[in-house]
Amino acid sequence: MVSKKTFFKGLNRSRRFHPSRTLAPSKIFQPSPRVSTEVIENLKPDEVAVIDYSLVPYGSREGPDATDKTPMFLKGGGTPLEIRTETSFEAAREAKKGPTRRRIESYEEADQDLIASGITWYCLRDKTWRRVTNNDVLEGHEIFAFSELESQLRQPTKKNMIHSRVYGIDRDNREVGAVATVQIPSRSTDQSYRVKLHGIPFLGSDEHIVWQSLKSDHSDCGSKDFGDVYWKRNPQTGRRRKQRDVVFCPHDVAAYLAVSQAERIRVMENSPQVKRKITLQPFPLFTQRTVDMWNKLRTQTFFGHPDSARPLKDHEIEIELGRFLSRNPEGTMYADRRLRDYDWNKNTPVTS
Ligand SMILES: [Zn+2]
Repeated sequence: MVSKKTFFKGLNRSRRFHPSRTLAPSKIFQPSPRVSTEVIENLKPDEVAVIDYSLVPYGSREGPDATDKTPMFLKGGGTPLEIRTETSFEAAREAKKGPTRRRIESYEEADQDLIASGITWYCLRDKTWRRVTNNDVLEGHEIFAFSELESQLRQPTKKNMIHSRVYGIDRDNREVGAVATVQIPSRSTDQSYRVKLHGIPFLGSDEHIVWQSLKSDHSDCGSKDFGDVYWKRNPQTGRRRKQRDVVFCPHDVAAYLAVSQAERIRVMENSPQVKRKITLQPFPLFTQRTVDMWNKLRTQTFFGHPDSARPLKDHEIEIELGRFLSRNPEGTMYADRRLRDYDWNKNTPVTS
């Protein structure tokens, strides 16, 4: 059995750390905002970065030194990067451009000092926005890889694996996509989550429209506590308006990965002559380089002073990730290997 505690070590980041007590001064970096991305990416396993400036810009809802209200940045206070889609069904069908290419383009066009809380896209069909943070996508990758590694064992523990069933892959559903029920292992307990996905684009469906409308039924999740409902102030009128978006969590991302893997196997078995076997990916598929950066942000980057610092919070990791991605979209979000073949434990945190 793969140990959850070791595999998901990045989740437990509550402990304060005192770099100056355990590390030589040459191992402690205090980068300025301009170079933090490069400094963090180049950290060796026995080095840490300590940031002493606020990553959240002044003027955003939670104030410069975000504390308790930090989730607000992720769920509504911060603006996600928009992945542009066409404004009509005809144009979307004609463009034939998948979400992967669109994401890369959006990040290429974005400011390198981008401050964003993940990505968002507009669904033409139900006229609502979809949102997901890069941090949650990476957590979803990690859950999926964990399940895959477990399934490789000689005697896998069923509870640690993702189980999916996909329904409705036939011509009649080509416009609305397939449905799937997916069982996802919890990372901290022996329980599992149940996720139901709707609007799954399958090969042969109206993929370029269907992917936008992906949706999930899965409310028993801590990651969704901060909600899909939030208040947004109109900068022109000053009025606050309730917004409702479809917000995806790590379990949704892991579920989608499992479903698209099942779909790939189905296509390989039924139509081996088909060239493209992977369906469109509404969520980014990150590379090893991004996973490495993410682990460094979780386990080797701190906020405070070398004498006493705390690990970064989710929204701070998200801000650093967004800037990292905008600097090299092609090399960071276009995976060319299977997630289970990544080195998930490459960074050994100096704090353990
Ligand atoms: Zn969830």
